[in-house]
Amino acid sequence: MSAAISQLTHHNRRGRHGEAIEIRDFVLRAEEAAKIAELHAHAVDHDARFPTEAFEAIRAQQLLGILIPSELGGEGARAADVADVCAILGGACSSTGMIFAMHQVKVACLVRHARGNPWQLDFQRRIAANQWLLASSTTEGANGGDIRSSEAAIQLDGARIGLVRDASVISYGADADAIVTTARRTDGAASSDQVLVAFQRSDYSLEPTRGWDTLGMRGTCSMGYILRAEGVADQVLPEPYERIHNQTMAPYAHLFWSSAWQGVASGAFRRARAFVRQASRNSGGRMPPGAPHLTRARVTLETLRGAVQAGLATFERNAAEPGGLTAMNAQLALNFLKVEASELAAATVMSAMRACGLAGYRNDGDFAMGRFLRDILSAPIMINNDRILANAEAAVLMSEPPLSLTL
Ligand SMILES: Cc1cc2nc3c(=O)[nH]c(=O)nc-3n(C[C@H](O)[C@H](O)[C@H](O)COP(=O)(O)OP(=O)(O)OC[C@H]3O[C@@H](n4cnc5c(N)ncnc54)[C@H](O)[C@@H]3O)c2cc1C
Repeated sequence: MSAAISQLTHHNRRGRHGEAIEIRDFVLRAEEAAKIAELHAHAVDHDARFPTEAFEAIRAQQLLGILIPSELGGEGARAADVADVCAILGGACSSTGMIFAMHQVKVACLVRHARGNPWQLDFQRRIAANQWLLASSTTEGANGGDIRSSEAAIQLDGARIGLVRDASVISYGADADAIVTTARRTDGAASSDQVLVAFQRSDYSLEPTRGWDTLGMRGTCSMGYILRAEGVADQVLPEPYERIHNQTMAPYAHLFWSSAWQGVASGAFRRARAFVRQASRNSGGRMPPGAPHLTRARVTLETLRGAVQAGLATFERNAAEPGGLTAMNAQLALNFLKVEASELAAATVMSAMRACGLAGYRNDGDFAMGRFLRDILSAPIMINNDRILANAEAAVLMSEPPLSLTL
């Protein structure tokens, strides 16, 4: 880490009543990167291109390796720190926030499941030192969003492995420095007997099969590819994917994605508030007719914020114990966080648009809401809420919701 950045450990800011508020370093660094992300957000969306400038700024702030333990060159950040960064970036440019979130989910899988494997530890060192960006490949061929099922299998040849995968969606595949992918353990394994494998750029080629001309989240550039990869057996994480999925992949994805969506919703809210303030100023302090929608946006935004905070608390309570995150109530809470956060974020953006009326509906002008709205509509389908709810049905029948509000 650069000397300038390492000095930024704790900062004080003044609160509304002049009191000192301690701000964690990650927040300040994220805010710096977010300024750049916001400047280019329109072009990223318009041209459906990777947010290059934002990621240059994120790298300059050394934010890509923060989850990696400090002994491997990272900063040992907490999940809550990463969640804050996702929200701040998401508020500036949805695609940037979501790419950052997806990257950190993959880093978390590597950090928490390397089990001291030397190749894996060295890989983490290289991610931190080079500020590598990791992409994720789980969606494949005919399986749609069923992340717990893989078609392509690892081919073992002595100490070497190979994988050829029809990856229907790999966000920012062309701009990533490595891909972390699920795969069937061996040719003879069942589709649910999966592993997680890390391939660095020099290990693979990507043959484009499908473009990414979408309603929103256009900057994630989530194209389809045939992924052809080779490496050594140690690139396969030592724990089964089922365990990685329950302990890390799903909980972190739901926390970080929800945080990024909360950022998007906050961005839309801020824009709508600016509109209502201006409209009120222009009519001698009278509230415009759309003002109740702004209040409604604030209601859902606060509920969303509370849901993410509760998710982080559930996570921290359970992550401390071995296997804690696989407890049924913890799994349900974090799965439902994804469903609820995606709906609340979409509701907030919709209310923000209605607060602005035509000024929000227009694609030109300072109060255009189209980008926020199109981006946030990806949230309920990114691992489809219907699928998550259907998968939870048996657990809902079996588990007892806690009565206490402090547990
Ligand atoms: C912005 C964005 C970025 C993405 N990035 C990546 C990436 O980097 N890597 C990657 O691998 N994938 C990525 N994905 C894909 C994502 O992980 C999901 O696989 C994908 O969104 C699911 O698409 P689907 O709705 O077609 O699939 P499905 O989940 O198969 O759903 C298809 C339809 O079936 C319904 N359905 C499915 N299951 C059930 C059920 N059990 N009960 C009732 N109805 C059900 C759904 O409602 C939906 O209408 C990304 C998606 C988005 C939106």
